[in-house]
Amino acid sequence: MYVDSHCHLSFPELRERMPEIRAAMAAADVDRALCICTTLEEFDEVHALATAYDNFWCSAGVHPDNEDVREPSVDDLIALAARPRVVAIGETGLDYYRLNGRSIEEMAWQRDRFRVHIRAAQATRLPLVVHTRSASDDTVSILREEGAAAGVFHCFTETEAVARAALDLGFYISFSGIITFKTAEALRDVARFVPLDRCLIETDSPYLAPVPYRGKTNNPAYVPYVARQIAMLKALPVETVARATSANFERLFQLPPLTPITS
Ligand SMILES: [Zn+2]
Ligand SMILES: [Zn+2]
Repeated sequence: MYVDSHCHLSFPELRERMPEIRAAMAAADVDRALCICTTLEEFDEVHALATAYDNFWCSAGVHPDNEDVREPSVDDLIALAARPRVVAIGETGLDYYRLNGRSIEEMAWQRDRFRVHIRAAQATRLPLVVHTRSASDDTVSILREEGAAAGVFHCFTETEAVARAALDLGFYISFSGIITFKTAEALRDVARFVPLDRCLIETDSPYLAPVPYRGKTNNPAYVPYVARQIAMLKALPVETVARATSANFERLFQLPPLTPITS
């Protein structure tokens, strides 16, 4: 049984297809998923998924790429985190990939927003779901400065040094379909390095479908392809990777072991 630790089922590509996606998940032995929130405006819809289905949970947070959306306060996030089935704060973090002509200095609003999420995570004792792109130094130093102690670096694409820093902070590392891409040899080396008891698997659907579905719309039923790639890299049976990443998911998000699928 596999867990998709990061997906966006409220996005338009997926939300109308829930019965089909849930059937595909059941057929692929994917028994649980964490639905990730990216704006306050979107929260109710993400939360509705987690309350409608007993094998979905959700997070509360505002993605660093989202501008022109409601800016969250620590209190906003604490209030959302108190709702049932909210098990994480995020996704949050830093993304300097699309600066649109701005300097890194001018991205202070992203760093402020990140700190707000970290403080909410500490107040609620929930783990952080961290997004980092072209910004790993600042991401790690802000987590360190704020004393963040629990969470996951999702859709990991950074170096072994960044992985080591994340592990030292007590964070987990989540791998996506990117590790199946032909050009991702360096990332596969990082996956070989990260201990299995600190690995999670995710789709980040609807994006980043793994090979052999690369370029198509992703969904949680494809997460076993990520597990198979990790199994190959670590020369382990895929069942071992499935079991370990599921146990890691339960440990990080403080969930009881396995809820049976009810459709
Ligand atoms: Zn992300
Ligand atoms: Zn995401």
